[in-house]
Amino acid sequence: MSHQGMDSKTNKIIVILTGAGISAESGLGTFRGAGGLWENHRVEDVATPEAYNKDPLLVWRFYSMRRIQAANAKPNMAHEALANFANEEHSNFDIHLITQNVDVLHQRADRFHRLDPICMHGSLHQSRCTSCETVYFDDYAYFDLEGNYAPQNTELCNADQKASPHYLHHYKLDYRNFLPLSPCCKQPIRPHIVWFGENPMFMEKIIPLVQSADLFVTIGTSGVVYPAAGFLEMAKINGAKTFCINQELIPQSGVIDVFIQGSAGEKVPKFLESLKNLS
Ligand code: NAD
Repeated sequence: MSHQGMDSKTNKIIVILTGAGISAESGLGTFRGAGGLWENHRVEDVATPEAYNKDPLLVWRFYSMRRIQAANAKPNMAHEALANFANEEHSNFDIHLITQNVDVLHQRADRFHRLDPICMHGSLHQSRCTSCETVYFDDYAYFDLEGNYAPQNTELCNADQKASPHYLHHYKLDYRNFLPLSPCCKQPIRPHIVWFGENPMFMEKIIPLVQSADLFVTIGTSGVVYPAAGFLEMAKINGAKTFCINQELIPQSGVIDVFIQGSAGEKVPKFLESLKNLS
């Protein structure tokens, strides 16, 4: 994202990487924390290409649940503060957001579409054709929280996305074993999520962005999932001042200039406010 009409040469580039911790105060479980989202599921049963090939219904049950949970959650103070910061015309920063989260909370807070997060692990409100890989907006939950087949619209997509020709109206599609087929190839669709064993998305865009950062900030990420866990060091080597906002220390402490310990909802708004005094 860059502010329209501003001279980007005079602006500092701030690149922010968020992880599951920024959504914890919205009620969404983190990956590793107690009560985490994956706790009752063996990851390899629900979030790998092999699991999808073996049992697509189970995988769609899991992602239907995640869509419903994400839709029931609301962006918190940290998501809102980032969206507001991006929307301030007087900011001295060009802010770029990379997120490992798939929960759509950054996008839902970003009412003026100024933040435009790069979702390196995909997004729950999208699906793609397993044949030609066309990506669609898709906020359908095919199953309810109890796992019963009960197609429902979760409203994860906004009005623009719903109006897009790439929005899937599943109830109009044919089903094979209850599963939706893509309009393009009439083949099964899968969640547009990076599963274990798959490569993150948009790396060709992300790497130069991280290398160009004047300030690089991680928020709510444990620093153990690569390649995202390597971005702090990459930014530091390329001359960025590095910040980490997290509830606990992370393994990259050697390359963090400023560690801000605490909850994202409290610390992120204060941190962004403090940046306004930075020349
Ligand atoms: P993680 O669970 O490994 O780490 C989360 C970090 O956030 C921890 O270090 C924890 O101490 C910290 N944290 C917890 N609550 C916090 C709060 N209120 N404020 C600040 N920090 C807080 O998550 P990760 O590093 O993002 O990696 C996990 C992987 O799982 C990622 O690939 C991500 O795509 C995926 N995931 C995404 C979501 C989501 O979309 N919301 C949820 C779970 C997992």
